[in-house]
Amino acid sequence: MTSIRFIALEKMMDRQEKEVHFPSLKVSDYFGSMTFNQSVMKEYLTEEAFDAVMKAIDKGERIDRKVSDQVASAMKAWAMNKGATHYTHWFHPLTGATAEKHDAFINPVGDGTAIEHFQGGQLVQQEPDASSFPSGGIRSTFEARGYTAWDPTSPAFILDKTLCIPTIFVSYTGESLDYKTPLLKSIAALDAAAVPVCQYFNRKVNKIYPTLGWEQEYFLVDEALFVARPDMVLTGKTVFGHASAKDQQLEDHYFGTINNRAKYFMHDLEIESHKLGIPLKTRHNEVAPSQFECAPVFEEVNVAVDHNQLLMHMMEKVARRHHFKVLLHEKPYAGINGSGKHNNWSMATDNGINLLSPGKTAEDNFRFVTMLSIILKGIHSHEELLRASIASEGNDLRLGANEAPPAIISAFLGKEVTATLEEIEKMPVRKAMNGNNGHNVIKHIPKVPEILLDNTDRNRTSPFAFTGNKFEFRAVGSTANTAFPMFVLNAIIAEQMSLFKGAVDANIEKGMSKEDAIFNVVKSYIIDSKPIRFEGNSYSDEWVKEAAKRGLSNNRSTPDALPAFVSESSVALFEKHDIMNKTEVEARYEIMLENYIKKVQIEGRVLGDLAINHILPTAIHYQNRLVDNVKGLKEVLDEATFKDISAGQVASVKEISVHIQQIKVQVEAMIEARKKANNMDSNTAKARAYREEVMPFFEVIRMHVDKLELMVDDELWPLPKYRELLFMK
Ligand code: ADP
Ligand code: MG
Repeated sequence: MTSIRFIALEKMMDRQEKEVHFPSLKVSDYFGSMTFNQSVMKEYLTEEAFDAVMKAIDKGERIDRKVSDQVASAMKAWAMNKGATHYTHWFHPLTGATAEKHDAFINPVGDGTAIEHFQGGQLVQQEPDASSFPSGGIRSTFEARGYTAWDPTSPAFILDKTLCIPTIFVSYTGESLDYKTPLLKSIAALDAAAVPVCQYFNRKVNKIYPTLGWEQEYFLVDEALFVARPDMVLTGKTVFGHASAKDQQLEDHYFGTINNRAKYFMHDLEIESHKLGIPLKTRHNEVAPSQFECAPVFEEVNVAVDHNQLLMHMMEKVARRHHFKVLLHEKPYAGINGSGKHNNWSMATDNGINLLSPGKTAEDNFRFVTMLSIILKGIHSHEELLRASIASEGNDLRLGANEAPPAIISAFLGKEVTATLEEIEKMPVRKAMNGNNGHNVIKHIPKVPEILLDNTDRNRTSPFAFTGNKFEFRAVGSTANTAFPMFVLNAIIAEQMSLFKGAVDANIEKGMSKEDAIFNVVKSYIIDSKPIRFEGNSYSDEWVKEAAKRGLSNNRSTPDALPAFVSESSVALFEKHDIMNKTEVEARYEIMLENYIKKVQIEGRVLGDLAINHILPTAIHYQNRLVDNVKGLKEVLDEATFKDISAGQVASVKEISVHIQQIKVQVEAMIEARKKANNMDSNTAKARAYREEVMPFFEVIRMHVDKLELMVDDELWPLPKYRELLFMK
C-alpha cells in the first residue's frame, strides 16, 4: 500500500500554478469596494445622519434610534446591491478567532411572501447565545446571554454575501468578553490622558489616537502534505521532524525571489484584502524557507486590529484556492525561525502630527523628547505587564530562542536619540522663577534629525525598537489578536501621560515656567527609565545577566508571565483608566491559563498518539525487515563471513529497539504526568504543572522519533519530512 505521505507528494507534484489575472482593473478601482466606508455613507445617508455617524466616530457620541434606523436601511440597501443576503455581528471573543452568526435579511410577512428586513435595532445590538464562548467564570451557566453592540468606528464589510458589522461583545452584566471592548476603552483613555499633555505644546490639539502598522509573518505549506500530518492538522505545528539537510543556513530565502505558487497566492490575497479596504502594501519572503510576510499602511489602531483579524481569516480562505495551508503558529518547525507579528505603534493628533516624529523645530524636538521620555518611563514601570500581553504557548517557543526578542522587555533607541537623551541627562535641573537667567531650555536640547538617516543602525534583536518615527513592538506572536498587546500598551502610556501631567502641573504651581516644569519631569523620567534602555544584542547571554542586574523581569513561559497581568498594580492601572475592572481582569487571566493548558494538553495527546500509532509500528516493521535479512544472511553465508558483515545490521536492530523502548516508556510517563496535572484544582497550578512536568517529555520523545526518522527506510516513513514541507514545488 502506498503511504499517505507519497500520495501527498504526488499530489503536490501535480499542482498546476494558478495564475491570477486582473488585467483591466487598477487597485484604486476596487479598493474598499466591499466596505461601508465614509464615501459610501456620504452617498447613502442624509447629511444629518452622516454627521451623527462622524460624531460617533470622532467624539464617541451616541447614535440615536432614528439615525441608527437610517444607517441600517442604508447598509441594507448598499449590501443588497452588492449581492448580500445575510448579516452578522462580527466580534472577537476570547477564543482568539473571530465569531459570527448569520441571519438572513429575509423575513416572511404572513401572506406567503417575504421582505428584506434590517433595522436600527438589529444593527446596534444583538443577543447571541454566549454560553459556548469563554467567560472565565464571569457568566454563570444559567445566564447564557451576552450582548454584541455595533462599533461605528470600524467600517462594516461584506464577506461571502454576508454584511459583517464589527461589534463589541459583553456579558449580560456588562463585563467585556472580547478583545475589542478593552481596546476601545484604552483608546479613549489614551486620548483623555494625552490631549492635556499635548496641549502644553499645541493648544489646537483636540484628539490623540494610537496608530498601528502590523507586519504579519506566516508559512505556506502544500495542503496535501499538511493533511498527511495529523500534528499540523490538530495543533498547527509539527511535533516531530528531523532537520532537513538544507534549511535556512544559506540565508537564501530572505528577500529572495518569491516562488510562483506563493506569489500567485499573495497576489490573490492582496486583491481580496484591498476589496475589504485592508491597505496591504508590502510582501516578501522571510528568513526561513516557505516563510513570508505582508504588511499594510498603518491605520488607527482599532481599524488596524480589525483588519489584521480579517486578514488572517482571508489568508486561510484564499490559500484554499491555491491548495495551500497557511501556518500562523509561532513555531511550526523546530530549528527553523518562527513567526511574529511586528506591531509598529505611534500616536497621532487630530491635526495630523505624528507624536513620535522628531519634527523640524526646537519646539517639535522638545515635544518629541517629552513623548519619548513618557513612553520609556511607562514601559519601564510596567515591563512585566507588557511581557504578559504577548504570552502564549506558541510564542513561548519563539521568544528567546535566538531568532526573536527574548522574554525580557527592553527598548532600543539608536545612536542619535540615545545621544540626545544623554545630553539632557547632563543638563542642570531648572529652578523655580528667576533661577535660570531667563534662558530658554528648549533651545539647548540637542536636535534629533527628523529623518534618521542611519536606518542600518536598526536593532533587529530588540523587542521594542524605535525606528525613526514609531516604536516597533517585535515580540508579539503571529497568531495573536493584537488588540491585547495594543490595549495594554495604550493603557500603560495613558497612565504615564496622566502622571506626567500631574508632575508638570505641580512644578508650575511651584512657580516654574511651563517649559522648565516639563523639562525637569522629562529629565527625571529619562534617568529613572535608564534600565529599560538597551542598545546591544538582546539575543546574547550577557544581556540575560545584565537585565537581571538591572532588575528587569525574564518570564520565560506563559505560566510565569501571566501573573503580572493580574497583579495589584496592573488591576489598579486598568481600573483607574476604566479599561477593565478586577473581575474582568481575573476572568481574562483564567481564560488565558485555560487556553494554555488546553493547547499543551492537545499537543501532548497528538504527540503520544502519533508516536504510538504511526512511529512505533513503522519502526517495528522496518526492524522486522532487518531481522529477516540478518536471518537470511545467516542461512546463506558461512559463519565467519556472516559474523564479519552482519555486525552493522545487528547494531541497527538493537538501536531501533532502544528507541522503541524509550518512546513507549516516555509516552507512558507523559500520560501519567498529564493525569497528575489534570487533577490540580487551580488553573495556575495546572498550567505550571503542564509547563514543568508535561512539556519536558515532548523534547525527549521527539529526540527518539527524529533519530528513527534517519534510520528507517524512507519508503516506509509515514509523515512528510521537513525537506518536503519546507521546499515547495
Ligand atoms: P520595515 O519595518 O519592514 O522596514 P517600515 O519601517 O517601512 O518597514 O514600516 C513598517 C510598518 O510601519 C508599516 O506597516 C508602516 O505602515 C508602519 N508605520 C509607519 N509609520 C507608522 C506610524 N506613524 N504609526 C504606526 N505605524 C507606522
Ligand atoms: Mg519591521
